[in-house]
Amino acid sequence: MNALRCVRCGYDGALLKEGRAPRCPRCGCDLRKRPALSYAQMEGFTAACSTGLGRASSTEARLIERWLAIGLVALVVIITAAVLLTRELT
Ligand SMILES: [Zn+2]
Repeated sequence: MNALRCVRCGYDGALLKEGRAPRCPRCGCDLRKRPALSYAQMEGFTAACSTGLGRASSTEARLIERWLAIGLVALVVIITAAVLLTRELT
């Protein structure tokens, strides 16, 4: 179900599994124009799942980036305040 197959002839050999073959070894179909798909991808099962996961991981990555930026800004503010306070004291 998840094995990649040539959409033209159905070949599912080892060259398609790595996704590196530019052409189908059996029928010569251009795999760059018509990439090999599994039955699950052809039926739209994994496409929906993978886009859902992609969205979740991208929002998670954005959230982490935002918190890292907030942490960096807070660190800069704390360091600046510490430098200013120590200068006023001396
Ligand atoms: Zn083929």
